[in-house]
Amino acid sequence: IQEYGLVVLGPGGVGKSALIINFQRGEFLEVYDPTIEDNYTHECIIDGENALLDILDSAGQDEYSAMQDHYIRGGQGFIIVYSIASLDSLNQVKARVAKIRRLKQTNRCPIVIIGNKCDLGEERRQVSYREGEAFAKKSGAAFFEASAKSGHNVADAFYQCIRQIRMH
Ligand code: GDP
Ligand code: MG
Repeated sequence: IQEYGLVVLGPGGVGKSALIINFQRGEFLEVYDPTIEDNYTHECIIDGENALLDILDSAGQDEYSAMQDHYIRGGQGFIIVYSIASLDSLNQVKARVAKIRRLKQTNRCPIVIIGNKCDLGEERRQVSYREGEAFAKKSGAAFFEASAKSGHNVADAFYQCIRQIRMH
């Protein structure tokens, strides 16, 4: 069975752990320890081919952490998460994409950008769909708005990352 190493990155509180748990178990955990850093495995069939996903849930790293560099060097595909309710989180994501490019020394690394929490009401929204999409396009990344709470687009975003690795 083909194994794929995914790394989920993004600022604290955007829903990285919630997305992984929704993807793996189909449920939403309202509260998850923000300091827990863990590896999850998930077996599934994507486009008719078996895949074993090894997903790293990163936690508590600031932009300059050596640990984050280590994760990036070891990952094959990256899921980078911001919250549509936080413009600041999108700005932090921009720095992480730049860092992946730099450490991987390529412009064609498999990256999926997720604007999470799209279940929240429009009054909470600080990042428009177009803004997220335009940033992803500029970065050569795939883009989804998703919700770990409703499950909207969660599996699609993870699957898209695997497709990108396969095409890579
Ligand atoms: P992490 O620090 O990026 O791992 O974020 P968590 O997964 O711990 O989630 C942070 C907070 O956001 C928690 O209170 C979650 O319940 C909440 N949350 C995560 N995903 C969603 C979502 O899609 N919609 C909503 N409404 N809340 C979410
Ligand atoms: Mg977390």
